[in-house]
Amino acid sequence: MKILKFGFIIFIIFLFSFADLYAKDYKEYIKVGILSNQKEFTVASDKKYYFVSNDKKYYLSAGKINVKIKDKEVIILNKSYKLPIKFVSSKCFLVNNKIYRGNIIVNSSSKGNNIINELKMEDYLKGILPKEASASWNSETLKAQAVISRTYALKNIGRHSKEGFDICSQVHCQVYGGASCETKNCNQAVYDTKQEVVLYKDEPAQTFFHSSCAGHTEDPKFVWQWKTETPEYLKGIKDNYCKDNPHQTWTTTLPETTIREKLIKAGHKIGKIKKISASGTTTAKAAKEIVIKHSKGTLTLNSYKFRCAVSADKIKSTLITSIKQKNKNFIFKGKGWGHKVGLCQWGAKAMGDKGFTYKQILEFYYPKTKVGKIKYATK
Ligand SMILES: [Zn+2]
Ligand SMILES: [Zn+2]
Repeated sequence: MKILKFGFIIFIIFLFSFADLYAKDYKEYIKVGILSNQKEFTVASDKKYYFVSNDKKYYLSAGKINVKIKDKEVIILNKSYKLPIKFVSSKCFLVNNKIYRGNIIVNSSSKGNNIINELKMEDYLKGILPKEASASWNSETLKAQAVISRTYALKNIGRHSKEGFDICSQVHCQVYGGASCETKNCNQAVYDTKQEVVLYKDEPAQTFFHSSCAGHTEDPKFVWQWKTETPEYLKGIKDNYCKDNPHQTWTTTLPETTIREKLIKAGHKIGKIKKISASGTTTAKAAKEIVIKHSKGTLTLNSYKFRCAVSADKIKSTLITSIKQKNKNFIFKGKGWGHKVGLCQWGAKAMGDKGFTYKQILEFYYPKTKVGKIKYATK
């Protein structure tokens, strides 16, 4: 009997240690920051719902209510309640007339108050795909995007822990549009790749992606100036698939005063700009550095830092083919769109159109990786 009991205890310890491992690595629910520093917002559900404050439940009938946020409290129907509060419904919520699956949390953090959407990872991805890809793209490309967006989210969980949520809904993490933006084919791509991620040595990979590389993807050491060795799946590959995309070439004209103001705002002490030139070549044949000759001297900047400081929207990439000066303006010409690290979305689209599967697309852009399934922790 004693041996049997001992065996049973070992079995239970074994089960719990595995449960902890999954709970730590792969959360089924994700907290997405959707709004910050709001003074008030509206919340609605077409079913009876409730909110929890201080461990107490308060029931509300179906319909819309106004929520005012004041310091560490909220005012609902003329009564105040302590933050955090959590709205729970069996149906979707409308927050400021935008639809969200899951629960809505209001918290206060050292960086102000936040409105957070807490929902299942698989449901979160349905609100990502139409924003990060194009819903009209072929199903294999959408499946590839679903796998990399899932992997990216898992890898970045807790990035906003100081604000009390996991991930934000902006470009900084991934653009999330809630259930309002969902489409049938994007939801299908999420469903068809359920729990699938890109694995490198049995761990989720860093699945960076960008719009178009214009011929070669980039080693992140040139972009974010990583101090650690770049993993082999991110060193950059030759890509002939994206050459017919609409962002293959671009031209931007910027006044000298705008460039100077933006660089000063980014902390660089410069005078009137006389000349701007590109210097050095990266893996993706982009400029390593930008050299700015000005009335007080010369400023040499990492090209990605220059792009972000001046305008990441207007200077679409660091693959700058020419910089000319005309009157009081600088004219930049270049190729591709984005940081060029990891998967090239327009290349992936072209591969999908040619009949490649999503696994072939992912193996092409992240060499030596494989697609595998993860397990979510049971609550
Ligand atoms: Zn973020
Ligand atoms: Zn490409």
